[in-house]
Amino acid sequence: SRATAVDTSIVGADVRIPLVTGERVTYANFDYAASAPCLAAVREVLDASLPYYASVHRGAGFHSQVSTNAYEQARRSVARFVGARHNDAVVFVRGTTDALNLLARSVPKDCTVVVFAAEHHASLLPWQHRGSRAGKVIRLPLPQSPDAAVEAAREALRSAPEGPRLLCVTGASNVTGEIWPIERLTAVAHSAGARIVVDAAQLIPHQSFGLSATGADYVAFSGHKLYAPFGAGVLAGRTDWLQAATPYLAGGGATGNVTEDDVRWNDLPARHEAGSPNVLGAVTLAAACDTLTEAGQDELHAREQALLDRLRTGLAAIPGVRDLALWDTDHPRVGIVSFVIDGLASDLVAAALSAEYGIGVRDGLFCAHLLTRHLLPEEHEQAVRASIGLGTTEEHVDRLIGAVARLAAHGPRWEYRDDNGRIAP
Ligand code: PMP
Repeated sequence: SRATAVDTSIVGADVRIPLVTGERVTYANFDYAASAPCLAAVREVLDASLPYYASVHRGAGFHSQVSTNAYEQARRSVARFVGARHNDAVVFVRGTTDALNLLARSVPKDCTVVVFAAEHHASLLPWQHRGSRAGKVIRLPLPQSPDAAVEAAREALRSAPEGPRLLCVTGASNVTGEIWPIERLTAVAHSAGARIVVDAAQLIPHQSFGLSATGADYVAFSGHKLYAPFGAGVLAGRTDWLQAATPYLAGGGATGNVTEDDVRWNDLPARHEAGSPNVLGAVTLAAACDTLTEAGQDELHAREQALLDRLRTGLAAIPGVRDLALWDTDHPRVGIVSFVIDGLASDLVAAALSAEYGIGVRDGLFCAHLLTRHLLPEEHEQAVRASIGLGTTEEHVDRLIGAVARLAAHGPRWEYRDDNGRIAP
């Protein structure tokens, strides 16, 4: 298959780590949803780029020319990856958080924004934050089903004040992995004369997403969740609002001309890329986009779904383990499972999985406090999240299932709390 023809191995997959037992095992990373390790193919592009390290756009030297070409080529790769329409802008930003804050400061003045309480804080909060140009923000309660989500969005947009309106939704939940009905929400937004932005931070690493295929107006995502290094992300979509907005970062690159008494801002995309651009971030992010496309995102998705099924089936068979989901258990998900174990605090579970089994999960409320708190059974303050990706193997999945089964039955073998009851690192 195409998936095997392209190298989708990840850096560090074979790193061995010490356990509390003194044994060494390969690290079983189940924290892809936080940050995915780099693809080997991305590291190759990084290595090939480093000799030409230089600032883009303004340098006349050879290295600057190479870097500028690579930076603009990266923009074209990203445009292809997100299925950008002819006129769409691709703006390099720092990540999804930055992308959505940029959009909040670029919507037309007093734009009504409709957003679900299920969102990650990066898509929940920027609309009401300092500098946002949004007017009324309508926060919809957690919908009981995808149908209810579509209906709630339709009703909110219908009764929203006249004028520009924007619906903000996540592509896939970072807590439950549940995939939101983007096509239907896009149709609802458009039939109300509104726009939609998709927070694809968790969706796009797992499943192809196209602006032209879905009709969505904007997409935001982060390189570090897409097997590229930290520090670069993307906001892509319609140009008019972004082109009309004053840049939220003032500085070099964003300026067309500056005189004693006036500033003329540049056109897109430079308008919103003030300061020396993160060339290596953009180039490596684009390398990840190209690698996933060449490998075939559908094939990668199918492999990941098989591992996810294995994990969910294994966890479901363990007494006392509860999987957190907003919707029906058969609703499609990306490779994310959040769960709790009856009678065990989630921070303790996470500490024991790491120290005793070499398994890296995440515990907490996952920057989606409203959703996670709603899903948690009463006696729990936090959940454990296991998320999978390209480096996940069946052995990792079976190790996690075995470890959770043992913890659920017997608890941790060691003590991880200090005298204050805090989990020791
Ligand atoms: N949206 C979702 C759904 C996320 O999972 C995350 C990262 N946890 C973000 C936005 C924010 O991404 P970043 O931290 O890269 O800005």
